[in-house]
Amino acid sequence: MRLSRYFLPVLKETPSEAQIVSHRYMLRAGMIKQASAGIYSWLPLGFKVLQKIENIIHEEQARAGHIPMLMPTIQSADLWRESGRYDDYGQEMLRIKDRHDRDMLFTPTAEELITDIFRANVRSYKDLPLTMYQIQWKFRDEIRPRFGVMRGREFYMKDGYNFDLTKEDALHAYNRHLVSYLRTYERMGLQAIPMRADSGPIGGDNTHEFLVLAETGESEVFYDSEITDLKFGDREIDFDDKVACQSVLEEFTSRYARTDETHDEALFNDVPEDRRRTARGIEVGQIFYFGTKYTDALNAKVQDAEGNEVAVHMGSHGIGVSRLLGAIIEASHDDNGIIWPEGVTPFHAGIINLRQGDEGTDTACDMLEKALIAKGLDPLYDDRDERAGGKFATMDLIGLPWRITVGPRGLKNGVVELTSRRTGESEEMTAEAAVDRIAEIYGV
Ligand code: ATP
Ligand code: MG
Repeated sequence: MRLSRYFLPVLKETPSEAQIVSHRYMLRAGMIKQASAGIYSWLPLGFKVLQKIENIIHEEQARAGHIPMLMPTIQSADLWRESGRYDDYGQEMLRIKDRHDRDMLFTPTAEELITDIFRANVRSYKDLPLTMYQIQWKFRDEIRPRFGVMRGREFYMKDGYNFDLTKEDALHAYNRHLVSYLRTYERMGLQAIPMRADSGPIGGDNTHEFLVLAETGESEVFYDSEITDLKFGDREIDFDDKVACQSVLEEFTSRYARTDETHDEALFNDVPEDRRRTARGIEVGQIFYFGTKYTDALNAKVQDAEGNEVAVHMGSHGIGVSRLLGAIIEASHDDNGIIWPEGVTPFHAGIINLRQGDEGTDTACDMLEKALIAKGLDPLYDDRDERAGGKFATMDLIGLPWRITVGPRGLKNGVVELTSRRTGESEEMTAEAAVDRIAEIYGV
């Protein structure tokens, strides 16, 4: 992409309404624009990162054997009356009337709708286990939308639902989600710690929230510092292997780690004092097992092997897709702007032409751009007729992890400069070597 043809409305001034760094940088980097309180348009750069995050989630869900689908954003109130949640949800639910005066709502979550799909189609234990998920817009009329996409009213969420014949199978689905979420967040360059949580209006006893530690997080968290040494890494796991999934759950949840809702001072005091930590965290996901709560309420039964009608065990599992952009920026930035982890960066590398209009630098930049594209990479070439300082400032702000700088002086010696956004370190090399290096970093 050529920056001269792109839409990147960078702001020079720091917007006064933004209280936290991720919100400030998302506005300044032209990623989002508020449409009304807690509701945003996703401008091209923000949309690109959103799609990257979404793709990682799809890939990891596929690896775990979960099936993608899509449900509507507007639902009829009827199903919610059946489950009893129409009243429970209170003012967070955006209620709408259609022209026939029917009660509709903008979905805050979809346990009812998926259970309705399930009961209409599944009759036998032979069709289980089943886990389906969607990535879809949700609406919750939050009392205090703030921090940009972090606490929006309209937000993008991955929500998945498992249906299992027994509690044991449903707990395996729970564990599978835990494992796949660990992989998902790590691919985004994040450490998200599973913490014991409270189930809220979704219901159920087994639930973990995934928290990214950050000073600006809205949750207070208490944990054993040993937990921050755990990495899932690139280990292979068979998601059908119950024992293997259970042992990952034990590894990642046996140390003390809780949010303020479930915090237990006495248990916390059993952690050696030098390992006790109190901090703040951003909730980027949550998994639940709630048994037959919804399948009972909506009378979703199947026949078991003996021909008995039995209620189905369920869980639901969410990832805050749009909130993740804020969380990643909170975890990865400096005073000059965002520092995208390679896994989610909107462009793989930036190219800066220090003397636009000079035949030598123009040709070299063209060739670099083509060579990167030929490798399957997606570069952003700043081809604007602007001062070098302004180009560097924009590149730093939008946070591409790698930058290739092309100037007449270097070209005389046959080199360009490759710079890491994270360390600030630069290295001179030939243009071919820079392309090879970047391809190697991204594994292409
Ligand atoms: P919170 O406690 O932050 O209000 P929640 O526990 O009500 O969130 P869940 O029902 O667990 O939310 O939804 C799954 C995920 O969706 C959350 O872990 C969070 O990352 C994200 N999420 C929830 N509410 C919002 C919101 N208002 N804006 C952006 N993301 C949200
Ligand atoms: Mg939650």
